[in-house]
Amino acid sequence: MNIQLIDLTRQYQGIQEPADQAVLDVLHSAKYIMGENVHAFEAEFASYIGIKHAISVGNGTDALVLALKALGIGEGDEVITTTYTFFATAESISAVGAVPVFIDVELDTYNMDPNLIEGAITPRTKAIMPVHIFGQPCEMDTIMEIAKAHKLYVIEDAAQAAGAEYKGKPVGTFGDISTFSFFPTKNLGCAGDGGMLVTADDDLAIVLKALRAHGSGEVGQRAYHYLEGMDGEITVDEGTDNTVYNPLKYYNYLIGHNSRLDELQAALLRVKLKELDGWNHRRIQIAADYDEGLKDSGLVTPFAMESGKHIYHLYILQSEDRDGILKHLKEAGIATGVYYPVPMHQQVVYRGLNYREGDLPNAEYLSKRTFAIPMFAELTGDEISYIINKLTEF
Ligand SMILES: *Cc1c(COP(=O)(O)O)cnc(C)c1O
Repeated sequence: MNIQLIDLTRQYQGIQEPADQAVLDVLHSAKYIMGENVHAFEAEFASYIGIKHAISVGNGTDALVLALKALGIGEGDEVITTTYTFFATAESISAVGAVPVFIDVELDTYNMDPNLIEGAITPRTKAIMPVHIFGQPCEMDTIMEIAKAHKLYVIEDAAQAAGAEYKGKPVGTFGDISTFSFFPTKNLGCAGDGGMLVTADDDLAIVLKALRAHGSGEVGQRAYHYLEGMDGEITVDEGTDNTVYNPLKYYNYLIGHNSRLDELQAALLRVKLKELDGWNHRRIQIAADYDEGLKDSGLVTPFAMESGKHIYHLYILQSEDRDGILKHLKEAGIATGVYYPVPMHQQVVYRGLNYREGDLPNAEYLSKRTFAIPMFAELTGDEISYIINKLTEF
């Protein structure tokens, strides 16, 4: 057998007809930027998450950068985040000139330990950036309580958790702004790069829309008025949207970015969003099969909080002999991945922050033990049994 970690060919085959049609329709329309698919997908995604505004961007990393900028976070500020995440979380904080302050994770959920947040707060702290790692929601009640008490913003990095829920509420609805990634291997992925911001705040939505496209046009003007505390009149014709044909495109009000989701990706994502709940449901079933099949294997299987809906973006195991088991699986044709081999506080690029070995012991311990086995909705029963057998055999 040959089983990939995430088999995107099979995912595509499952939606081939509508996906091909959606993409061809965009090609025929010859409207590639900020067209009807982008607007429709934003509305559909907002409604899926259950939040007022969804603003699409070029990728999940840009989404984090724009979120920080919209909240006015930059030079001299600190943002508390988890050390056990994908680099983009930390990178976005550094990219706006702020300093990431890393805290350790819980050994069972792999998420930031909320008990460590208050100890990391300083007069410079502006925000907390929790990451719903591997698809498991963070302890949002506690995080929001601490944020409120200390007047801090919360940016949820939900790149791995589209459709996950905390106490029956979708992740992405707790923070001031939340971000998603549509990188192809995410549980909702496109055929390239893509990302999304969501917020319930009307003003932040305007600023985010302005930041993704050069701070120009009507939305740039509105964002400028909001940021400058002006009530000034917006003189723009409401009928024109901010497309390539909008003459107001060449009137700029903020230093922004060029980070847009394109029509091809949006059209494809509209097809895939309809499948997301079914795919997540299947992931949860596969995880239950793995849990059951591996319960006597000596491997540490994932812990799922009762208060959350974990959507198993990745199915993570722990082994004392990770190298040995990965080799054994490779020989059996089973792909694996190591998430994450180096916590953020131990990355070369963050040497200047002066963390020492042992500072964040749980993440350091996990980084030597954790690995992912195949997890995608199209995995068959035979493949699941085969994977369980090979793991148990070892
Ligand atoms: C994938 C990911 C991102 C970045 O998303 P891109 O679309 O790849 O830029 C950010 N944070 C986490 C936790 C991720 O897994």
